[in-house]
Amino acid sequence: MKICIASGKGGTGKTALAVALAKTLEAPVALYDCDVEAPDCHLFLNESAVEKHQAVQKIPLINADKCTACGACAEFCQFNAILALANTPAQLIPELCHACGGCRLVCPSGAITETTRELGEIRKSDFEKDKKLYTGTLKTGNPMAPALINQLLAIPSNAPYILIDAPPGTSCPFMAATRYADYIILVSEPTPFALNDLRMALETINLIGIPTGVVINKSMHSQNLISDYCQNHNIPVLLQIPYSQRAAELNSQGISITHGIDDLERQLRIMIADISLTIRSHH
Ligand code: SF4
Ligand code: SF4
Repeated sequence: MKICIASGKGGTGKTALAVALAKTLEAPVALYDCDVEAPDCHLFLNESAVEKHQAVQKIPLINADKCTACGACAEFCQFNAILALANTPAQLIPELCHACGGCRLVCPSGAITETTRELGEIRKSDFEKDKKLYTGTLKTGNPMAPALINQLLAIPSNAPYILIDAPPGTSCPFMAATRYADYIILVSEPTPFALNDLRMALETINLIGIPTGVVINKSMHSQNLISDYCQNHNIPVLLQIPYSQRAAELNSQGISITHGIDDLERQLRIMIADISLTIRSHH
């Protein structure tokens, strides 16, 4: 089961839930921290056997001596990553390049080869028996989070539970992290701002048609603006996690919220069993 834990709005408790699930499940787990601009699952887990490697991406290298300034590469590039001016060798704008390799194929002069650019770091570690954490950390200043997320999620795992901690927002990094999931848990909180972002996240997920349910975190009343919205739009509310000062304090010390909220572990196991049934019926 590939379960992605996502949220439109940051700070709703997405990582807290991902970590709580990873620790609670009584089976092998692979947790992929795809929040590559600020990965933080490792802060809550006792890592061991840490391995790191640099993640790179192939981007074009334009040979100005061979370039005839025909402009074919710039015309082809959908991301406006090549600047082609008359009588001037083409120039790459690396920050805009999505590394598709197309410009190299269309160049009639063989002026484009490849070079590598550093994307960031991928770290693999163990955190409990049969539980692994994979973490991507984007290099500061590199905007290509989806490329690093794709490399991270390409690391294979035989674990029956694959948990993906997605980046916040609803743009390309969110799509990269969610699109291969069997199920998406959207973590929200009962505030108007979170409702606005939840709506956007649901609209985005509708485009890819993955079954989705909502966890309402920091809930003070079982009937709230998020539960009302879900009820009115036929979206399952999987769980309401009560607001807890104690859980917030533990979370700030890198301790799972399951230690601060009574009965949460049992409710998480029930939630995963329900999600499992939904995934089976969807397939
Ligand atoms: S590799 Fe693709 S995205 Fe990058 S410059 Fe070439 S055509 Fe544009
Ligand atoms: S397609 Fe090749 S020759 Fe033409 S502008 Fe681009 S790099 Fe230069």
